[in-house]
Amino acid sequence: MQTKKPGDNRGTLYIVATPIGNLEDLSPRAVKVLSEVAVIAAEDTRHSGRLLQHIGVQKPLIALHDHNERGRVQSILEKLLGGADVALISDAGTPLISDPGYVLVRDARAEGVRVSPIPGPCALVAALSAAGLPTDRFLFMGFLPAKRSGRRTALDELRKEMATLVFYESPHRILDTVADIAEVMGPRRDIVLGREITKTFETFYSGEAAQVLAALTEDPHGNRGEFVVMVRGADKSEAGLMAGALDVDRLLNLLVAELPLKKAARIASELTGMGKNELYQRALELKDS
Ligand code: SAM
Repeated sequence: MQTKKPGDNRGTLYIVATPIGNLEDLSPRAVKVLSEVAVIAAEDTRHSGRLLQHIGVQKPLIALHDHNERGRVQSILEKLLGGADVALISDAGTPLISDPGYVLVRDARAEGVRVSPIPGPCALVAALSAAGLPTDRFLFMGFLPAKRSGRRTALDELRKEMATLVFYESPHRILDTVADIAEVMGPRRDIVLGREITKTFETFYSGEAAQVLAALTEDPHGNRGEFVVMVRGADKSEAGLMAGALDVDRLLNLLVAELPLKKAARIASELTGMGKNELYQRALELKDS
């Protein structure tokens, strides 16, 4: 942990998570930090002004968004180096997660300023925690490209990824994105959509991609609200570990050179997902030829 050394008069940069819908999710520690810092850097000062009003905090606000981040970082760093504590918040959830703040945090660290997270809501973590998909390995990809061709290319590149995939998506693209997942990754790929999480109309849609697309199309509110899209990772056959992607004959030749045929066929079967008997026969042919 990075703690301040005695004599270090620089301020601390707090990265404060705020609610993704339900205001009761703002933690007591977040409220305390927001009440105590000298300045709050916010993605949209009008939007965050409402949250701060709700908790009775009145502080100078600095706008820090994607379009001005580089320019604003210097003046925020000057405040930190001058001893002021600063909090960074975004419109919703955890700053830097598909939100501004990366340049500020990077540069603050480079200047030796203490950066401390005040953890809390994050749509991707909330969605994954309730989706029922494997979470031991997941790949968060932020937003997919807005244009169909770019989106399909991105999905095609992820087709064989075995980790659970997580995307953010806007309501006006959600139907197109689910349709593209069904087409590029297959209609039977399991997906889960987390919609309006922590809000009144929180809904989880889950099932095979084609089923979820149908449910979403039929739901009159299907394309409203905010969405997290989660896709089950590829299984062995989808990941191309079956015959074809792996040179099975080369694998068998290598194994047979070191091991008895039966053992070689068993290991090759584990690696490729192909049947043991089929591999045993093929190993025999290779040995005889
Ligand atoms: N920093 C935020 C976080 O920690 O989750 C994410 C900011 S990103 C600009 C906004 C996207 O997050 C939305 O388009 C949506 O995909 C997702 N999102 C945010 N709030 C959500 C909610 N309540 N339910 C579902 N998705 C949400």
